[in-house]
Amino acid sequence: MKEVLTYDDVLLVPQYSDIRSRSEVSLHSDLGDKLDLNFPVIASPMDTVTEADTASTMSMFGGTAVIHRYNPVEEQVAIAESMITCDGDTVVGAAVGVTGDFLERAQSLFGVGVDFICVDVAHGHSILMKEALETLRNNLPDDFHIMAGNVATLEGFNDLADWGANSIRCNIGGGSICTTRVQTGHGVPGLETILQCAKSDRDAKIIADGGIKNSGDIVKALAAGADAVMLGSLLAGTDCSPGTIFKTESGELRKTYRGMASAAAQKDWRGRVASCEGVSSSVPYRGKLADVVKELERGIRSGLSYSGARSVKELQAKAQWLQQSSASATESSAHIRLR
Ligand code: IMP
Repeated sequence: MKEVLTYDDVLLVPQYSDIRSRSEVSLHSDLGDKLDLNFPVIASPMDTVTEADTASTMSMFGGTAVIHRYNPVEEQVAIAESMITCDGDTVVGAAVGVTGDFLERAQSLFGVGVDFICVDVAHGHSILMKEALETLRNNLPDDFHIMAGNVATLEGFNDLADWGANSIRCNIGGGSICTTRVQTGHGVPGLETILQCAKSDRDAKIIADGGIKNSGDIVKALAAGADAVMLGSLLAGTDCSPGTIFKTESGELRKTYRGMASAAAQKDWRGRVASCEGVSSSVPYRGKLADVVKELERGIRSGLSYSGARSVKELQAKAQWLQQSSASATESSAHIRLR
């Protein structure tokens, strides 16, 4: 059996850098079909991560966000419309499924001017995805950007590209609130998926999605071949994420963060629980999303400069990898002994 690696198993080797300032580093990423980002980070279509406030802030920093689809069409469209009306420069996407009202949703969202739609299902390498992409491609302009996923393999990536996806969310089972691998026994470690999908000869772009815990993981995902990353937990628990702040018995401020396939989320959006493949949890309240994003951006810029890279493409060309032992992984995070 093949040995596969994920983010904490590897390190990027620091290299000579002639970069004098992090401001010399460009984080630009062109995802094709008019989806051009200056900050290659996308907020996930989850009901505790992305509605109008998160999307506006992400766009302000040159990234983007996908408005979740766990609401009636009119509600999702109203969220998208409120932002695009307020600010014509906003770059925003919105999610649709593969059955039911997905075409009506996609057409309504296109009608109010979203920059892209994201066909958002847990197992994207499927007949339902194939049929949905065919339908969407037949009913939307050829140059309208369609993101789709998720996939875990190169075959899945190539098929979705051939079925009409411009960018593809890669990783199954790696999300911080995900129990897919436990429930189903299926999945591929996140970094391995990116390394495999990066071998594709198709034009579709790679979105590394799920399991990204810090800016270091973002740099590793980009170095492995991702064109952008999608984040859930790292962008949850802020002033912009949907939901209210609550106080724990010990006085800590927190916000709910939950998987969209958790029992709690499913009960809310479809009134019943089908296969439960996620958990509902909470994260500490982090304050302003803008500050969280600035911190991530500083870390990513610094990461590129450690590889002597002025762009994501240069990072991918220069990246040198090491596999680390568990002792090295311990050494890699703060490990001061207090006593
Ligand atoms: P995180 O950034 O590690 O928190 O992962 C976020 C990603 O987890 C999302 O973008 C989805 O791809 C995935 N995800 C969201 N909800 C669920 C779920 O309930 N089960 C499995 N994966 C999920």
